[in-house]
Amino acid sequence: MTIKETLTKGMIILKGSNIESPKLKARLLLQYILKKPRQYLIVYDNKEIEKKEQWEYFVNIEKLANGVPLQHITHSQEFMKMDFYVDENVLIPRPDTEILVEEVIKIAKTMQKPKILDLCTGSGAIAISIAKNVPEAEVHAIDISSKALEIAKKNAKNLGVKVKFTKSNLFEKLNKTKFDIIVSNPPYIKRDDINYLSEDVKKEPELALNGGIDGLDFYRKITKQAIDYLKFESYLCFEIGYDQKDDVIEIINQQENYSKTYSKKDLGGNDRIIVTQVN
Ligand code: GLN
Repeated sequence: MTIKETLTKGMIILKGSNIESPKLKARLLLQYILKKPRQYLIVYDNKEIEKKEQWEYFVNIEKLANGVPLQHITHSQEFMKMDFYVDENVLIPRPDTEILVEEVIKIAKTMQKPKILDLCTGSGAIAISIAKNVPEAEVHAIDISSKALEIAKKNAKNLGVKVKFTKSNLFEKLNKTKFDIIVSNPPYIKRDDINYLSEDVKKEPELALNGGIDGLDFYRKITKQAIDYLKFESYLCFEIGYDQKDDVIEIINQQENYSKTYSKKDLGGNDRIIVTQVN
C-alpha cells in the first residue's frame, strides 16, 4: 500500500466514525508513524509503506476512530511554540489557553523578578511557558495529582526551565508566601455536562475538567483563598468557560479585595480570560 492509499484509507475510516478533522488526523498520525515531515508524504506519495508500519498505522487509526485523542498516541502537543509531553493523566493544552499565558507574560514583564504561581498546572504548560518567556520570574506550580506533576516536571526538564512544583490541593500544602501573580486554568466544566463532551475530551482526566455542579467551584475557592497569598496590587488571572464571564466576575466582586477586573476573548470570539487586581 502506498503513502497516498494509506492516507485515504485512514481518512475514510475516521470519517466513517464521525471523527473531527479526519484528513488532518490521518496525515499527522502517518507522519508520526513514519517519523517524517509533511513534505515527505507529499513528495513520496507513491512510495510503498512497510508492512509493520502499515499495521501500526491502522491499529492507531482504530484508536482514533474510538475517540482516543491523537495527542495520546503521539504524546505531544504544541503550546506557545514548544512541544509538551502529554498522556491521559493531564489535560491536553489548548490553543485558547495561550491567550491567558500571553496576558500573564505581558503583566509579568512590567515587574521586577515577579513571583508567579500556577494553580492546577496539569502538564505544566502555563507555568513552563511563563518561565521560558520571563526568565527572571520565580515560577511555582501546584497540582493535586502526583501523576500530573510527574509529567509537568518532565516537561520543565525537557524544555530547560526551572519551576518549583508542589503537590497540593490548591494552597493547602503551600508555605505562607506572597505572589505577584496567581494564574489558573482550573477544571470548569459543569459536572453533568461531562457526559455530553465529545469522545476525545472524555478520554482526558475527569479531575482536570470537573468544576462541580455549576462548573464554578474552583473560582469560588481560589478567589477566596488567594487573598492570603497575593501582594498589594498583584494579579489573579483565570481561564474561564465561554459562558462563565458574568458568574466569575460576580464571584470576584463578592470579595472586597479585588478591583480593576477585566476580561479578554479568545480567537474564536468567546470570553476566555479574567484578570483582577488586589487593592
Ligand atoms: N477547555 C477545556 C474544554 O473545553 C476545559 C478545560 C478546563 O476545564 N479547564 O474541554
